[in-house]
Amino acid sequence: MTIKTPETIERLESEVRAYCRVWPATFASARGSHIWDVDGNDYLDFFSGAGALNYGHNDPDMKAALLDHLDGDGIVHSLDTTTVAKLRFLEKFDEVILKPRGLDHKIMFPGPTGTNAVEAAMKLARKFTGREQVVGFTNAFHGMTIGSLAVSGNEAKRLGAGIALTSGTSMPYDGYFGEGVDTIEYLDALLTDTGSGFEKPAAVIVETVQAEGGLNTASNEWLRRLRELCDRHDLLMILDDIQAGCGRTGKFFSFEDAGIKPDIITLSKSLSGFGLPFAIITLRRDLDVFDPGEHNATFRGHNLALATATEALRRWEDTELEEAVARNAEIIAETLDSLVERFPDHVLERRGRGMLQGIECVEGIAPATAKKAFEFGLIIETAGPSDEVLKLLPALTISEEELVEGLSMMEKALASVIGVDSAAGV
Ligand SMILES: *Cc1c(COP(=O)(O)O)cnc(C)c1O
Repeated sequence: MTIKTPETIERLESEVRAYCRVWPATFASARGSHIWDVDGNDYLDFFSGAGALNYGHNDPDMKAALLDHLDGDGIVHSLDTTTVAKLRFLEKFDEVILKPRGLDHKIMFPGPTGTNAVEAAMKLARKFTGREQVVGFTNAFHGMTIGSLAVSGNEAKRLGAGIALTSGTSMPYDGYFGEGVDTIEYLDALLTDTGSGFEKPAAVIVETVQAEGGLNTASNEWLRRLRELCDRHDLLMILDDIQAGCGRTGKFFSFEDAGIKPDIITLSKSLSGFGLPFAIITLRRDLDVFDPGEHNATFRGHNLALATATEALRRWEDTELEEAVARNAEIIAETLDSLVERFPDHVLERRGRGMLQGIECVEGIAPATAKKAFEFGLIIETAGPSDEVLKLLPALTISEEELVEGLSMMEKALASVIGVDSAAGV
């Protein structure tokens, strides 16, 4: 099946477009883990809107909440005036997420995107501490606005800024120099030594799994030591859970297994549950130092997203979803491990955790596999500085049958790229 890019796109849409080049179909409808294009082709979705669709497409309960809201002429746009939808969301988030985790945090509504949340978090940390620098980590991704780029690793994306990116300092992430080098000790030394030339930062911003940066994963031990280091040096810990959170790695927050409490948490992507733009930051109560209106945006806490997000939070009232993620993660890990074993010349290692896993491949293999997979009807993307990682991001709600089907399409695509018969293995 060869699909051509529509002439309208080539003529009118900016060259900056990206995903429609990888998947040139014209998509028409979607439900759960399936997407259909205008020609009726059926695709299995292992991409989930880069993690914005953890609950799949058009979840019936969230759709009902959205339609009810509209049907009752509920408020749609409200800046940050008080609405019924906002009250419901705040109460639900406190009851289902914050309280059970012992997080005495307040909630702030920045603009509706992930990078809006990151910018707000860093601005707040700067105001609170009176310091300017924020430490980001190698291969981090925090968004495409100037402040977020300054703490992101990817060279091409940084260069796109077109101005000097200041006020961010890149430090080695867990495992950056291999097993022998303790990167927390390195950062600790720079912060301690008055001769290091290292400017004391306001905060560190960190992902538990670097989703865009190639699925590098921080160990629980490393995260705990980073937390201790922040306490010792009086730095704020901003945890960017925009992609790894909302259940993607197992628990609602990706840092729960590490037993840490960040000072500020950023959430977006799957927060609305339905794919509507929505972001928040949660902050330690005593960090609430912005003056009224000092940080602002037209689209904060958009009511349609608040309505679906409140419905999505009901999935966290019991452990059913969490258990499904653990089961699916196991199936994914087993399959990926077997690929590493069977194709050692092309597949180097399994990375990530929960339902945010992938395989690091020899250069060129991952993009070719993603391309081939699309021909077989599977939507899957790549990650990492040279797209060396094939990244699996199925909906958390995918059925076991669909998951296994997608994994086998992926395997078939990989085998075809490597040039072996997938059934025969090596
Ligand atoms: C996607 C992402 C962002 C940026 O979110 P946008 O909505 O694209 O601005 C920031 N941090 C992480 C970890 C992300 O995955």
